[in-house]
Amino acid sequence: MKRIKIIGGGLAGPEAALQAAKRGCEVDLYEMRPTRSTEAHQTSDFAELVCSNSLKSESENTAPWLLKQEMRRAGSILLAEADATAVPAGHALAVDRVEFSKRVAQRIESEPRIRVHREEVTMLNEGDPDTLTILASGPLTSAALAAELQRLTGSDHLAFYDSISPIVDASSIDMSKVYFAARYDKGTADYINCPFTKEEYERFIEALTTAEAVESKDWEKFPATGTAEKLQYFEGCLPIEETARRGRDTLRFGPMKPVGLTDPKTGRWPYAVVQLRQENLRADSYNLVGFQNHLKYGEQNRILKLIPGLENATFLRYGQIHRNTYIHAPSLLTETLQLKAQPCILIAGQLSGVEGYTESIASGMLAGIYAASIAKGNAPAIAPRLSANGSLTHYITHADTKKFQPANITFDLLPPLEEDLRKKIRDKKERHKLQCDRALAAWTEWLAPTN
Ligand code: FAD
Repeated sequence: MKRIKIIGGGLAGPEAALQAAKRGCEVDLYEMRPTRSTEAHQTSDFAELVCSNSLKSESENTAPWLLKQEMRRAGSILLAEADATAVPAGHALAVDRVEFSKRVAQRIESEPRIRVHREEVTMLNEGDPDTLTILASGPLTSAALAAELQRLTGSDHLAFYDSISPIVDASSIDMSKVYFAARYDKGTADYINCPFTKEEYERFIEALTTAEAVESKDWEKFPATGTAEKLQYFEGCLPIEETARRGRDTLRFGPMKPVGLTDPKTGRWPYAVVQLRQENLRADSYNLVGFQNHLKYGEQNRILKLIPGLENATFLRYGQIHRNTYIHAPSLLTETLQLKAQPCILIAGQLSGVEGYTESIASGMLAGIYAASIAKGNAPAIAPRLSANGSLTHYITHADTKKFQPANITFDLLPPLEEDLRKKIRDKKERHKLQCDRALAAWTEWLAPTN
């Protein structure tokens, strides 16, 4: 039987290690802390929660609840420890982070099949026939390992940044200057459109291309080269200032495209538009569609106010780009989380394109189950598409390759109900309950031979 090498002692790595060991495999678990840390971790503990202590909703028949229910049924060890260290948090599962990490460490220590190595891994020995590797080094994968992964997968297949669009307070939009419309009047007019004349657009582009960007801190540098200039973005989520630099009309043909958006005041399409999409059910905030950027907050406040209708806007959140290393899973991964070109390497956790603590643990759990199966010479059974776990993996491996972005579990990722059922069951909560029932039934059936 092959040995399993796991890189990363965060959330996905320990779960994968414990699942594989539980199935009789010998595991080497590598964690670089404390020898080398990341910019977010504070300790050298396993399973450190780097920010909030919440593993999201426990409300029955929500998508995060479904994911956790499936994990409980599959015997996720980290989730069991999260349950054991839960603190009061309304409808969410929140944990005492110190206790949680301590108990995960105890589980690893008491597992004789897991050998812990406190060192940074910088090479992926893809040619070794006796070893399977699970790479779970997370969103803050060390620079040397990121460069190695890039070597293995090709330079276009590793992203280092996530982008966030600004959000504006709805009550601060000048509604006399903007209009609701759907492109070519197709569908409901949900978007607010901010129309530009040619002169307004020219002024806006000038301001955008000469604005001051946020300086890259050392850790934001491009891992492979150590330079800040060569930031690596997927084409689908370029910062607007970068798009604007590619040509004066590029934004007008991209996120500021006016075609089909007739302005009721003029009866014509404007020269360019910025579209605002409702952010929440209360409709008291809107995000600027496609306006992710890397500009200083003061600059954003100045430049975004050049948008017609937003002259006096209050921004609730500014655009941001933050470090998040993840692979381009739709091109690179199989549904068993193996690299297509190097099947002896599996990718788990945030690095695989899932987003969030629970999703990372879930992905580690599947990677551990799959790796154990492969190590024994068997073909792993893929988690069912109807389940939340299966849907999450299906999303990362089948998403639109041009627009791939990491995802949390949501009902959008699950297969929709058939049309007749959707028409019959009007209540959304009831539809979700039916999706959850189906998911749990398929999951339980899949689990029987897996455990
Ligand atoms: P990690 O938990 O980061 O584990 C990866 C491990 O690999 C780390 O311990 C690291 O030290 C180690 N490692 C890296 N490189 C090497 C190497 N070369 N050799 C050996 N070891 C290595 N999600 C939420 O749900 N809620 C939040 O509040 C939240 N906040 C976040 C805040 C920040 C700053 C970041 C970056 C992410 C946040 N996330 C959050 C997203 C995500 O859920 C977490 O990052 C989560 O910890 C990911 O789990 P993981 O196992 O994939 O990676």
